[in-house]
Amino acid sequence: MNTPHAPQAVVTQAFLQGGAKRLLIGGEWTEAASGRTFVTLNPSNGEQVALIAEGDVIDIDRAVAAARAAFEGPWSRFKPFDRQRLLLKLSELVEQHFDGLAELETLEMGAPITRSRNLRRSCVARLNHYAGMATAMHGETIENSMPGNAFSFTVKEPVGVVGAIIPWNAPLVEAIWKIGPALATGCTVVLKPSEEASLSCLRFGELLQEAGVPPGVVNIVTGSGAGAGAALAAHMDVDKITFTGSHFTGQRIVQASAGNLKRLSLELGGKSPNIVFADADLDQAVPACAMAVFGNTGQVCSAGTRLFVERAIHDEFVERVAAYGRGLRVGQAMDPDTQIGPLVSAAQLERVTSYLAIGRAEGAQPLCGGERLTEGDYLKGNFVPPTVFSGVQDDMRIAKEEIFGPVISAIAFDNAGEALVRGNATIYGLGAGVWTRDINKAHRLARGLRAGSVWVNCYNLFDPAVPFGGYKMSGYGRESGLQHLEDYVNVKAITIQTGE
Ligand code: NAD
Repeated sequence: MNTPHAPQAVVTQAFLQGGAKRLLIGGEWTEAASGRTFVTLNPSNGEQVALIAEGDVIDIDRAVAAARAAFEGPWSRFKPFDRQRLLLKLSELVEQHFDGLAELETLEMGAPITRSRNLRRSCVARLNHYAGMATAMHGETIENSMPGNAFSFTVKEPVGVVGAIIPWNAPLVEAIWKIGPALATGCTVVLKPSEEASLSCLRFGELLQEAGVPPGVVNIVTGSGAGAGAALAAHMDVDKITFTGSHFTGQRIVQASAGNLKRLSLELGGKSPNIVFADADLDQAVPACAMAVFGNTGQVCSAGTRLFVERAIHDEFVERVAAYGRGLRVGQAMDPDTQIGPLVSAAQLERVTSYLAIGRAEGAQPLCGGERLTEGDYLKGNFVPPTVFSGVQDDMRIAKEEIFGPVISAIAFDNAGEALVRGNATIYGLGAGVWTRDINKAHRLARGLRAGSVWVNCYNLFDPAVPFGGYKMSGYGRESGLQHLEDYVNVKAITIQTGE
């Protein structure tokens, strides 16, 4: 076990002192109307991290009203250039205060501190990207065949009040992915962070204020999914929900949104195939295929959890991935030497360990890991080591269901056509990987795989300019790329008769 706590930055300690964390509504930090709070725990040791206001339907009403007032009021007078300046200021502040943001996230959701800190570049790059986009949105003029001299053009108008509901596995990244395009296009937001990890979002709220984002433009209501989340999804004055989370919750959100037929974008789960051919650069593929799942302790939506390996190299390759997994340091998330932190919560620990038991009962063999860690200090946290199951068949539950833990299901295949069919045999379609030196095979697989992102000879690379999103039950809408902002605007067609 690694040494327990690295010292926390002064700013993080200050942020955590002073009672329960509050909701941000209309520019004011306020208690929940009910006065209720909930506790978040450090998944490395089970200790309390913070008390947080538990917002519910009344707080959501207040936040939506504040967002509506801002949308129709001062915010509507911000020009693209003004919103760009705000985003650039925000990006500067995020860069400057990133160590504190990373610590809060690590304390609460257990990502290794080195990983959390490494997200600085992508958060800053993303805010800069949205800042650029703020002045790049435009409509078009259209040649029409209407009678007379009718002149037609389109304008893009912000969709209005956006409800953003996010998970716990990368809260700050998720918040930026949703608030960035809203600010760029002139929308206002009510953000509902996950009840497992709200703190980095609340600190981000302070930075939004410091950047000069006007009151009510971004509101943050912490609380449960069944309370605050469901109220936001059903609210009649919310114009759009952008949701990231499980497909089960996604289905509820689709139902809840029916009342006012609000627009939706859904980033949901996955069971992504990562397909390794015998002709691949195996030295490169081994660590990448391991970290495609073990990174963030497997709590990544696009993790390459179904590892298809060509039969000729299957046993040797899978053993090398397992050896890589055995060599990773599992430990306290705040320790800079830790590579694999704890799972986010006791519930997630229960879920992942139940799948470890299911895998064994189905006849798969764990080549590494396979059991929760309980020695010494591990017992106080939610630690599951990197696990590689071999001998997995397509119809086993560990090959079909999203585990969201550090668990690889390794599967042998014989040829490209078969790998394609079996890789696509899933309800999901988020990510997919292909490892080969054969350009023809790479193209064939990349085009044939039914997934929103296909990575060839790499995995889980993200960029604000490259679209990300799902096929099938992994959801719809795209985050990143040009299309992302289109989801936050309405296109209005205007025709002006200029002749008699
Ligand atoms: P979750 O669906 O349980 O919760 C996500 C959010 O929805 C939380 O804020 C939760 O409070 C809220 N929520 C729960 N019930 C709700 C309801 N009835 N109405 C409205 N909101 C509700 O997911 P999770 O456990 O937080 O995250 C893990 C899941 O998220 C995995 O399935 C993972 O694949 C997915 N995920 C997807 C992406 C992506 O980009 N596709 C990224 C990260 C995570």
